[in-house]
Amino acid sequence: MDITKADIKYLPGMGPKRAELLNKELGIQTLYDLINHFPYKYIDRSRFYKISEMDNVNAHIQIRGQIVGFSVKGEGRAKRLIALFSDGEKTIELIFFKGLNYITDAYKIRTDYIIFGKPNCFNGVYSFVHPDIELPTEDRIKGFMPLYHTTEKMKTHGLHSKALQKFIFLALKQLPEKLPETLPLTVRKKHGFMGLFQALWEIHFPHNSNLLDLAKTRLKYEELFYIQLAILRQAKGMRASTRGHEFLKVGDKFNDFYHNHLPFALTEAQKRVIKEIRADMRGPKQMNRLLQGDVGSGKTIVALMCMLLAVDNGFQACLVAPTEILATQHYLGLKDLLKNTGVTVELLIGSTKKSERKPIHEALRNGNLDILVGTHAVLEDEVQFNNLGLAIIDEQHRFGVAQRAKMWSKNTRAPHVLVMTATPIPRTLAMTVYGDLDVSVIDELPPGRKPIRTYHFYETKRPNVYSFIHKELAEGRQIYVVYPLVKESEKIDLKNVEEGFESMKNIFKEVKVSMVHGKMKPAEKDSEMQAFVSGETRILVATTVIEVGVNVPNASVMVIENAERFGLSQLHQLRGRVGRGAEQSHCILMTKYEISEDTRKRLSIMTETNDGFKVAEADLQLRGPGDLDGTMQSGLPFALHIANLVRDGVVLQTAREDVQQILSSDPNLQSPEHQFLTAQLKLRATDAVNWSMIS
Ligand code: ADP
Ligand code: MG
Repeated sequence: MDITKADIKYLPGMGPKRAELLNKELGIQTLYDLINHFPYKYIDRSRFYKISEMDNVNAHIQIRGQIVGFSVKGEGRAKRLIALFSDGEKTIELIFFKGLNYITDAYKIRTDYIIFGKPNCFNGVYSFVHPDIELPTEDRIKGFMPLYHTTEKMKTHGLHSKALQKFIFLALKQLPEKLPETLPLTVRKKHGFMGLFQALWEIHFPHNSNLLDLAKTRLKYEELFYIQLAILRQAKGMRASTRGHEFLKVGDKFNDFYHNHLPFALTEAQKRVIKEIRADMRGPKQMNRLLQGDVGSGKTIVALMCMLLAVDNGFQACLVAPTEILATQHYLGLKDLLKNTGVTVELLIGSTKKSERKPIHEALRNGNLDILVGTHAVLEDEVQFNNLGLAIIDEQHRFGVAQRAKMWSKNTRAPHVLVMTATPIPRTLAMTVYGDLDVSVIDELPPGRKPIRTYHFYETKRPNVYSFIHKELAEGRQIYVVYPLVKESEKIDLKNVEEGFESMKNIFKEVKVSMVHGKMKPAEKDSEMQAFVSGETRILVATTVIEVGVNVPNASVMVIENAERFGLSQLHQLRGRVGRGAEQSHCILMTKYEISEDTRKRLSIMTETNDGFKVAEADLQLRGPGDLDGTMQSGLPFALHIANLVRDGVVLQTAREDVQQILSSDPNLQSPEHQFLTAQLKLRATDAVNWSMIS
């Protein structure tokens, strides 16, 4: 039998209805899918508790003993059955609100049972509400009991963790003991991995924690192995075929700028990164590099210097930003830096007038324009370069794969591509997701920055927050107030922003207030934004549209409303909008009092650190890679069931090296030992992404 095709509906007790639900809710269709639904947690059922030991127990436990009597208490909805359970020394109450008759019928007094559940404690007295009651038979779970994720809908149809456990057990029973291996022999030998058959049994029903660990290691490795195989195979294909422009010299423009126009000394990190990029652009291969640097780390000047290298070698360069505001800011900044250098720069954005476009198009075509700054407008077909050598994309998570591909086709030989991002992707993740894309990191801020102070306040502190804002305004500062995103359907969000805008106008009568949100017309948005950038308005009430790149050094306070609704990386991006000037800056996270423990933890990471990498790692660990703000939207080639990109960095690295070795000796996976890998890749690649243009 092929378990990758065998439908779960034929499992005894499953039936078509539940099978359909499992498919709908968790995408589980075949025995293979079901077996790959791993437990999220295990409960140790090798240990029995005594009632007298139950101080401070806050987990599932089991007790051996007998029911010594039943009684019914209460009326109506409070009516409950109480079974008094004795372990031979002490007694404890088992409480049931439902199925009273069933329970008194099914369970006998003075018979040995094992009860299992999470005890409640009320006024120092322990009890169990609806515990599991089992006979102490031979086939009950004696080691670790697996717990499985289910959904509310599944539970209402009887598909709770325990039912899944039963079905998975039945599915495992159908596995042939000689299950074909899914990892090459060399790899299994090298790492001494547990066999697949045993690993699958142990991951679901571990005999002990040692075997469970071995099973986990093998299965995690396997997942990461195939992810790497998928990515590296495609990356290799791309790499081999793409020649680049060779920028052999560092010429006059670069040197003149460096010696005569650079307004500050570069940080060591900036210098190192420029060297890395230059080394790439000299070589015969086309560059695809990701430049990471926390907000404010000074990526723009790096971009400019790289563009000067292109110009020195007779090429043009372009810098693409995700919004008109940002592109305009870049343009004005670069124009200022480049005055008296003889290097020409123009701006092309959606709102550029036709009459202004024409000369830009011409200058681009005949080579009179060195640097073009713009938005997506730069990608339009009518924008043709004479000789584009370097394309730089700022804040790449707003820039899709398709657009990047378009950039490539702007010259007969693809230009070098540098993608800049402030979203700090942990290295292991960057490596996994981008495969062979090279990564440069600016891990140092320019000197003299004051770290932003971050606070988490509840609603009750709002008056204090407002008086603080009054004080900052009196000192001439500007303030951001940010609300969660306005989405198509989320009328409430819009109402929040608009109400926030009205109340800010009322409370802070001493200044003018701007508002921007995603539902405004671009022109309206721009003029509101410009008013804030120029300092005409002093408070900006906004949704996350301001998240990316805006530079207003005079802004010193960032208030984030409903902070619990933002991801950590997003909060970090928002916080990066302040702290750009000489003044001490502050970031205030506002939430209601009733927030979950998880949220409290997340927000405390924000108040504890300013380090974007730490924030990103915490974000990954708390919410999973799927949520790492925007950047990872394209996701992995297939979902991870057991491996964790952050926690399993070492395994990831090992898998990557092994895959590299396999691909270098057998690039097309044609040797008999490797042939099955292609089929395995296909099996896993249910929702493949187009990687080929990324790296
Ligand atoms: P980001 O990496 O967020 O894009 P920017 O390039 O906008 O950062 O730089 C932030 C600010 O820091 C700018 O005002 C820039 O002029 C300044 N800056 C960049 N590099 C340095 C440096 N080496 N020394 C001092 N200031 C710098
Ligand atoms: Mg920037």
